[in-house]
Amino acid sequence: MGEFEKSIFNILVVDDDENVLQLVKIILADRKYNLVTAHDGQEALDKLGNFRPDIIICDILMPNLDGYQFRDAIRDRDEYYLTSFIFMSAKTTTEDRVRGIEHGVDAYITKPFDVVEFRAIVNSMIKKRLQLERLVNHDALTHVYNKRKIIGELDRELQRVKRYGNPLSILIIDIDHFKQVNDTHGHPEGDTVLATIAETALNSLRAIDMIGRIGGEEFLLILPETDLNGALIYADRLRMMIAALVIGANDIKVTISGGIATAPVHAVDREPLIRKADEALYEAKRAGRDRIVNAR
Ligand SMILES: [Mg+2]
Repeated sequence: MGEFEKSIFNILVVDDDENVLQLVKIILADRKYNLVTAHDGQEALDKLGNFRPDIIICDILMPNLDGYQFRDAIRDRDEYYLTSFIFMSAKTTTEDRVRGIEHGVDAYITKPFDVVEFRAIVNSMIKKRLQLERLVNHDALTHVYNKRKIIGELDRELQRVKRYGNPLSILIIDIDHFKQVNDTHGHPEGDTVLATIAETALNSLRAIDMIGRIGGEEFLLILPETDLNGALIYADRLRMMIAALVIGANDIKVTISGGIATAPVHAVDREPLIRKADEALYEAKRAGRDRIVNAR
């Protein structure tokens, strides 16, 4: 669901000393860690082709590509902007540590390891990562995904549709006459309405579904493995749930309108699929609101 906290963390451990790799595997032996190892910077780069680490723990002195060079190779790549990078090294002079800091590493573990310190550093990196992820991916008011994140997720899900052909539906919902809510009750109450509706929708979703805020009072829901009929049943249930809410200090009642489009029947690319759902939403509005319409 939307609060979808990660529960498995991918960790890439890079060291030319096989004993160190084995030791780290023992220290981090936990179901929540998925460890991949590499013996030098070059092998690590190769592994990144089909592995997306949350944390990289990397030796400095290694053949082929050393720790500094590997760090520099990925430092400015967008896909690693949330990845924590930890150096582990016996190089512990001030100069070494400063050089690590200059390479933008998040932490420095000195060899030989103190097991307790090692685990503490990894745990604090994970906490930081979760906080960052929350900030970067979620809408501050409603706590569902923000537009950038939900669009990214839709692109990823549509790749799966193209590969496997399973249906996926999207639902765009818009709160009816939301401007009147703000005008009548003020923006703080309007914000409460937005947050309540987002929470209601979020709680109504299955674990694989996603919701994001894509406009002022507009939300995009992604329903993987769901055909048009399934999406219509879900959306109408959500519509009725929201119509039954009594929100905030002023007992505000609102309704939503929604438009559904399904891949691959209506479109398989993001833009045409969203356009179809938008057109259906527009039709729901024109037909009198408080209703769900599907794309044709
Ligand atoms: Mg080494």
